[in-house]
Amino acid sequence: MWQSVLARAITDPAELLAAAGLGHEWLPAARAAAQLFPLRVPRGFVARMGRGDPHDPLLRQVLPLAEECLAVTGFGADPVGDLAAMAAPGVLHKYHGRVLLTATGACAVHCRYCFRRHFPYADANPLADRWNQALAYIAADDSIVEVILSGGDPLTMSDRRLAELVHGLEGVGHLRRLRLHTRLPIVLPERVNDELLGWLGATRLKTVVVVHANHAQEIDASVASALARLKAAGIELFNQSVLLRGVNDSADVLAALSEVLFAAGVMPYYLHMLDRVQGAAHFEVPEAAARRLVAELNRRLPGYLVPRLVREIAGAPGKVPVI
Ligand SMILES: *Cc1c(COP(=O)(O)O)cnc(C)c1O
Ligand code: SF4
Repeated sequence: MWQSVLARAITDPAELLAAAGLGHEWLPAARAAAQLFPLRVPRGFVARMGRGDPHDPLLRQVLPLAEECLAVTGFGADPVGDLAAMAAPGVLHKYHGRVLLTATGACAVHCRYCFRRHFPYADANPLADRWNQALAYIAADDSIVEVILSGGDPLTMSDRRLAELVHGLEGVGHLRRLRLHTRLPIVLPERVNDELLGWLGATRLKTVVVVHANHAQEIDASVASALARLKAAGIELFNQSVLLRGVNDSADVLAALSEVLFAAGVMPYYLHMLDRVQGAAHFEVPEAAARRLVAELNRRLPGYLVPRLVREIAGAPGKVPVI
């Protein structure tokens, strides 16, 4: 059962350090930073880390560090202006034709660089009791053709709840596509079970799943098999990554990620510049360096394996290309 795998995720910094083979000198900072944004990482993801390596690219994404406690100018609580863009409870309608539903605040993993680390999910959860308001908003605007379930991570919700929700969306005649933004197939591949494939494979809506992996080491055999099951159910698969200092800020790492994704049936989609969220400044890669990396990818890879380098800017009508 994926729920029990999720429930057994590591949340104690001491346990993560022990599992990663790191010493206690990391503990005080990890505890302090975990006060700001709790530690959470599934054991299967930890198993893909190298042991005894504080620079392991998977560990870096989840280990709370002292740097997170620093206030850095320019890094705030709502860097992408989501609160201002809330059209109805939990409904982000920033871009033409697409709405994003923050379906749940819960995630299976807490990524230290996440721009939602300060997001007040309690006020932004349409599914708690205000799902009808969200559905009414979508039904009233026939320019909306695609609904994106996001969060948090929508796949932390039960299949029963998700099937209900999708049933509601299917009743809106002008909707054509259903998209899920989820990290679960990567961090908890057990989530891709028959129940999920049942409702996702059966909807009249064209279905797209956008996963989130930042490094090739995240894609092991269990993840590849979960992705293959999604693919076999007729779902289009894309990946978005965040460009992260110390994780994937090299052309070798990014090229390897694209190759591994493609081999697993996933097309590289976006490479996001870090959102300037408080506590994540140490992950930032300067724009000039980011451009050089993508130029190098363009030299090495076929065009379809080069993700689009984008930045999210509050008020912009879409992701803004960095060129
Ligand atoms: C990223 C995002 C989308 C999706 O954008 P695409 O370019 O279609 O992937 C939609 N709505 C919001 C609010 C977003 O942040
Ligand atoms: S899974 Fe996505 S929403 Fe959840 S913490 Fe990671 S980046 Fe943020």
